[in-house]
Amino acid sequence: MSFLKTFAAAAVTGALVLGSAGLASAQDKGIIGIAMPEQTTLRWNSDGAELKSALEAKGYTVDLQYAGDDIPNQLAQIENMVTKGSKALIIAALDGTTLSAALESAGAAGIKVIAYDRLIRDTPNVDYYTTFDNFQVGVLQANSILKGLGYPEKTGPFNIELFGGSPDDNNAFFFYDGAMSVLQPLIDKGDLVVKSGQLGMDKVGTLRWDGATAQARMDNLLSANYSDGSHVDAVLAPNDGVARGILSSLKGIGYGSGGLAYPIISGQDAEIPSIKAIIAGEQYSTVYKDTRELARVTADLVDTVLAGGTPEGLDNKTYNNGIKVVPSLLLTPYEVDANNYKELVVDSGYISADDLK
Ligand code: BGC
Repeated sequence: MSFLKTFAAAAVTGALVLGSAGLASAQDKGIIGIAMPEQTTLRWNSDGAELKSALEAKGYTVDLQYAGDDIPNQLAQIENMVTKGSKALIIAALDGTTLSAALESAGAAGIKVIAYDRLIRDTPNVDYYTTFDNFQVGVLQANSILKGLGYPEKTGPFNIELFGGSPDDNNAFFFYDGAMSVLQPLIDKGDLVVKSGQLGMDKVGTLRWDGATAQARMDNLLSANYSDGSHVDAVLAPNDGVARGILSSLKGIGYGSGGLAYPIISGQDAEIPSIKAIIAGEQYSTVYKDTRELARVTADLVDTVLAGGTPEGLDNKTYNNGIKVVPSLLLTPYEVDANNYKELVVDSGYISADDLK
C-alpha cells in the first residue's frame, strides 16, 4: 500500500472514531486546524500529511483542509475551524492579508495561530511563524544560476530573464529580494542583461505560482526580445512549477534541440518532475527544503505552546508582518543540482530512487 493510500485509510478510521465519540473526545488534547493552500504544488500534500500524523501522534485531533487555491474558500475553512473550537490553527495562507477578521475571532477565543511557511501580514493575531530562510532561498537560486553559467570564469555578458512567485505570497518577495541581492550588482555591471527590461515583483510576479501563466509570459518574452536569434542564457524561476512552465515555452520554440542549449533555470521544492528534469539536463537546479522537518518542528512548537511552555531557538527580528515582529523558527534550505541530488534528496529519503525512474 502506498503512503498516500495508507494515509487515506487512516483518515477514514479517524472519522469513524470521531463519529462515535464526537469531535475532541475526553482523552483528546483538542482540535488543531490545518489550512493548506492547494495541492498542485506537490509539497503541500506532504506538509499536510506530515503535520497531521505528527499532531495525531501527540494526541490531537486534526482538521486538515485544502483550499484549492481559492481565497474565499480558505477564509471559510478557517472561520469554520475557529467555530469548531480549535486550540491552534496552522495556516499556510493563500493571501495572508484577507484573513484579518477571522484571525481576530481566533485571537479573541485564545486560539494560537501559527503562520506556516508563509507569513500572515497586517494582523496582530499571529503568534508564531515556522518557515525556511526564505531570503537565503533566493540567494541559493541566484548563486546556482551563476555556477551554471560558469561565472565569473566565463564573463558573459549573459542574457537573463526574471520570474517571481505570487505577489500575494509574502515569501515571493523574500525569494526575489534574496536572488536580486546577488544578481542586481551584475546587472548593473552589464555582465547580466535583462533584454526585456522587466525587473521588480510588479513586473515579474506569477499569480498563484501558476506554471501556465509563467509559460505564457515566457512565450511573450521570447517573441518580443529574442526573435532576432539571440539566446536566453538563464532564467530565474522561483519554484519548480514555474520552472516547468518556462521550460515548456522554451521547448516550444526549439530550445533543447538542434544545438540550441537550454538556459540555466533555477527552481525550488525539489519536486519529482523537476529532479527528473535536472537529471535530464533541462532544469539546472532546485532548492530543497525538508518539509518533513518543517512539519515536525511546527507540531513540536504547537504542543509546547499549548502546554504553556516557551519554544526555543526563535528568531525575534527578521519577520515583521507590518504590525509586529513575529517570533520565527527558520530552517535551512539547500541548493540541489545534478551533482548532489542523490545525496540530498534521495539518500535523505525525501524522494525514493524508484520515483525518479
Ligand atoms: C513556498 C514554496 C512554494 C510556493 C508555491 C511558497 O510560499 O515557500 O515552497 O513553491 O509557495 O506553492
